[in-house]
Amino acid sequence: MVKIKTAEEIELIRESALVVSKTLGMIASEIKPGVSPLYLDGLAETFIRDHGAEPGFLGMYDFPNTLNMSPNAQVVHGIPNDTPLEDGDIISVDCGALKNGYYGDHAYTFEVGDVAPETKKLLAVTKESLYVGIREFKLGNRVGDVGFAIQQFCESHGYGVVRELVGHGLGTELHESPEMPNYGKRGRGKKFADGMVVAIEPMINMGTRRIRQLKDGWTILTADGKPSAHFEHNIALVDGKPQLLSTFKYIYDALGIESDEEKEFRQDKQTV
Ligand code: MG
Ligand code: MG
Repeated sequence: MVKIKTAEEIELIRESALVVSKTLGMIASEIKPGVSPLYLDGLAETFIRDHGAEPGFLGMYDFPNTLNMSPNAQVVHGIPNDTPLEDGDIISVDCGALKNGYYGDHAYTFEVGDVAPETKKLLAVTKESLYVGIREFKLGNRVGDVGFAIQQFCESHGYGVVRELVGHGLGTELHESPEMPNYGKRGRGKKFADGMVVAIEPMINMGTRRIRQLKDGWTILTADGKPSAHFEHNIALVDGKPQLLSTFKYIYDALGIESDEEKEFRQDKQTV
């Protein structure tokens, strides 16, 4: 069942999402060749606790760390290890935080040093597909409209859209109803209503959409070994329109990137 949130609850989710946004901004300034995912994971855990929250993923379904860190051909759910990042890598960093009983949960795929142009394009298209999807999260639409838009956009670039993993509702639980697939048919699925809060998170492969899982029981990889990208935002439906609760602003501040990509999803009463 979809849990509709009050305005107060949406503010609480925004607060938790903000902890994640700031954590990813901190990570952005630390990511470089030679740094290990495990080191970054430790920084993130301390940062989240210092901001009055708890790591949202740590211990959830027995996940052993604070961050999901998934380099290159890893799609999502990578376990941070001590293998240093290398020049030319990409790495998806997915982070959750629990504060005041509500979860924030979003992700960004970072470039490490100098990344190949075709991989940069995968990142750009995947991030754009996130906003293409968010635009469809509005009154009158259904879950299938979001998935359809993301799928169309990514497949038009020749990319593979992962089917086995999906976005989700968000609130007092990390994963609430409805599931938010990155594929689908127009006009199908659950109807959107004001007060819904979701995490939309395209997982897009440069090659085949097929995936496999490592024996660690967590790590998801592309079946063909080609790179995969992952971006995630948290969004509330307010007055019939999508409103971002998460922001990549802290990442862009850390990396010196100018962007107004979030502007259309900002409304009054924004804290960021
Ligand atoms: Mg999520
Ligand atoms: Mg996530």
